[in-house]
Amino acid sequence: MSTSIQRKKIVIVGGGPAGMMAALELSKHHEVHLFEKGKTLGRKFLVAGKGGFNLSNSKPLTPNYFPQGLFDSILQKFNATDLQTWLDKLGIPTYIGTSGRIFPEKGIKPIEVLNAIKTNLLKNNTQLYFEHEFVDFDTTTITFETPHQRKEVPFDYCVFALGGASWSVTGSKGDWKTIFENKHIETKEFEASNCGLEINFSDTEISKFIGYPLKNIEITCNDKKYKGEAVISNYGLEGNAIYPISRVVRNELKEQEAFIEIDLKPHNSEDDLIKKTTANTQPKNYGYLFHLNKCQLSIIKAFTDKATYLDSELFAKSLKKIKIPVKRLRPIEESISTVGGISLEALNSDLSLKKIPNVYIAGEMFDWDTITGGYLLQGCFASGFSVAKSITERN
Ligand SMILES: Cc1cc2nc3c(=O)[nH]c(=O)nc-3n(C[C@H](O)[C@H](O)[C@H](O)COP(=O)(O)OP(=O)(O)OC[C@H]3O[C@@H](n4cnc5c(N)ncnc54)[C@H](O)[C@@H]3O)c2cc1C
Repeated sequence: MSTSIQRKKIVIVGGGPAGMMAALELSKHHEVHLFEKGKTLGRKFLVAGKGGFNLSNSKPLTPNYFPQGLFDSILQKFNATDLQTWLDKLGIPTYIGTSGRIFPEKGIKPIEVLNAIKTNLLKNNTQLYFEHEFVDFDTTTITFETPHQRKEVPFDYCVFALGGASWSVTGSKGDWKTIFENKHIETKEFEASNCGLEINFSDTEISKFIGYPLKNIEITCNDKKYKGEAVISNYGLEGNAIYPISRVVRNELKEQEAFIEIDLKPHNSEDDLIKKTTANTQPKNYGYLFHLNKCQLSIIKAFTDKATYLDSELFAKSLKKIKIPVKRLRPIEESISTVGGISLEALNSDLSLKKIPNVYIAGEMFDWDTITGGYLLQGCFASGFSVAKSITERN
């Protein structure tokens, strides 16, 4: 331990990626107590593991964090390479996939990554407490309820890393928001992010194609474009090209009606497509001519007027901009992440609370947004790291 750093008692609440990272860094110099409401650490982290388990992304990070600029200094302190190095030191080698996403080496299970973090927390003498639900706090003391008692714990510094409000089964319910509101700490309503889009497909043939992917497409909303795949679901569209656009759609829905545009042929120009047609091209040949399957044709039919569909040149052009109205976002509970929680107005630039500066906030529980593909976990780990660094620098 460095002799120049004053050892402090630090309470961390929330055993997700942000809380675990803050605990691991702080326990190098301080006495750290990590409290979790559930019976285990990292339940949402394990849920993420069942999906893609993108730990981070090697592409430029900062353009994908919103509001823009908010994460610049946080990611400067702890970027994707730092995360890879950190994991490597824990015994978890990673690799960069062709898409730029960063994964644990093949064969390493999510639970092994979690266990590696837990082993190192214990090695650093972090005290772990489970079934401790935080219910109140002030500038020096935090109150927990356990199945057996109400308990008050004094602290020099406290870090809250309570997560967002989706997938409540993992423990991240957002029900802590009122505790902060009662202390006049500004909060914002939770809203869904990285979620599916509800679209009215009734009275169309599209409902025959539930589960079908629209591959290699580009989705646009308000000039923001994302490439990837959209999957037809019983409520609308989901998939890796849909989740990132949900942020833009959410903002559009607040102002007016929201539309997305699908480009089914992002690798062909309008001219390329028009050149495929002749004066004799008939609608019955569209599938063959433009390499369109029945699912794609049903989307085009549902959202293109008859005159456009029957005119082969107009049809060719329409393949690059099928305009689809969005009814609403899917509910918060189902979304991969949420925005809202602790408002940015409540925070200093080092993520301490303006009203109680020895209390810090990290991870998904404050009002920021990013896209899927590893950026969420990177943001949570990096904010946990940044908070730990700020506390250590103050001592
Ligand atoms: C289906 C799915 C797939 C995902 N896939 C990816 C992916 O591949 N890549 C990626 O980057 N991200 C992914 N994510 C997002 C990522 O998992 C989250 O952004 C991340 O886990 C948030 O970390 P956190 O530490 O802020 O909060 P959380 O992981 O939510 O942890 C917060 C913890 O605080 C505890 N807590 C809450 N209230 C209290 C209280 N009052 N007292 C005590 N403890 C409390 C909770 O029990 C929980 O354990 C995915 C999410 C989902 C739902």
